[in-house]
Amino acid sequence: MADTIVFTRGVPPTEAFPTDELAQCFDAALRADTAVVLQYGQQPGYPALRRQLAEEYGVAEKEVLIGNGSLQLQDLVAAYLVRPGATVLTEQPSYDRAIGTFRRRGAKTIGIPIEPDGIDIARLEAEVQRQVPAFLYLVPDFQNPAGATLSLEKRRAVVDLAVRYGFWVIEDVPYRKLRYQGEDLPLLRSIDPSRIITMSSFSKLLSPGIRVGFMLAPAELIAAVTRTGEDTYLSPVLPTQAAVAEYIRRGWLQPNIEKLKALYRPRWQAMVSATRQHLAGAQIFAPDGGFFVSVMLPEGANYAGLVARAKDIGLVLTPGQAFFADADQGELPDGERFVRLPFCAVTPAQIDEGVRRLASLL
Ligand code: PMP
Repeated sequence: MADTIVFTRGVPPTEAFPTDELAQCFDAALRADTAVVLQYGQQPGYPALRRQLAEEYGVAEKEVLIGNGSLQLQDLVAAYLVRPGATVLTEQPSYDRAIGTFRRRGAKTIGIPIEPDGIDIARLEAEVQRQVPAFLYLVPDFQNPAGATLSLEKRRAVVDLAVRYGFWVIEDVPYRKLRYQGEDLPLLRSIDPSRIITMSSFSKLLSPGIRVGFMLAPAELIAAVTRTGEDTYLSPVLPTQAAVAEYIRRGWLQPNIEKLKALYRPRWQAMVSATRQHLAGAQIFAPDGGFFVSVMLPEGANYAGLVARAKDIGLVLTPGQAFFADADQGELPDGERFVRLPFCAVTPAQIDEGVRRLASLL
């Protein structure tokens, strides 16, 4: 269908890439530091970028590991921390690839329901009391897929539980700097870093293809995960890390983030108002930033076969079930009730039309 509307792509549109600036930074980085950038080595990451990140987050360099995208770092952390019989807790729903990664590493992966202000703390504590997990995986800012943001009170409660029961928390924050309104909430690590692994990446701020992601954690954990990384890929991809370091050195990152926000803000507004207007009966998660709005359709809605029926009228949706880990209590919700609506790679006109089509199916 010629006017198919695609609500599956949680990726930046091609026009968002700072292509010329990146090309200049690649050229400069390769020529200025050839012996390092084109060589094996630098297992914890390209030194200049590691220094810049350490400075930005107020940590020591030995608390920073830069790898080939943050998903690979999640995988390495899971490979290191998950022991036979271990559980990993996530929000429910959660980032589908993270759930898949943790399961592949052998963890029983259990989802704790998410509310508009983040994970349900009572259900989290009940599950932790049943079995202390290897770690809890959270996307506290503008969550993928739901769009929820963890409140300050819940941030404190999560950190308190992690310290009291002794488990790690991954705070995965790739969307944090794409805030379209309101004020930042503190990172979990700024409340107490002892049990926190912070992850982020340049995929949403520059380009996913460059595969530059990073993690911040206590030095011993960084050293252990770095060894797992070295055993896996020998050295990280240095040319892209060096280009990012050069991009930051030139002072171009913040202006690029402002450009992205100007591009995405009208799309975000269009998605929030279209869902409120056309899907009034659903539970709508409308974040202040990021890439995703989501809706949980009412139990009485006609959602059976939704993805296939949507395709027939030129609307491409992601099946909701992939975002669900095992249930902590009772039955899993029917995944088709949950619809993730990424708005960054579609225009406001497409957004309005797409949400109208979705509403017409219910
Ligand atoms: N975490 C979340 C929450 C994401 O949405 C994504 C990308 N969709 C990633 C991690 C993976 O990012 P990267 O490209 O850095 O591997």
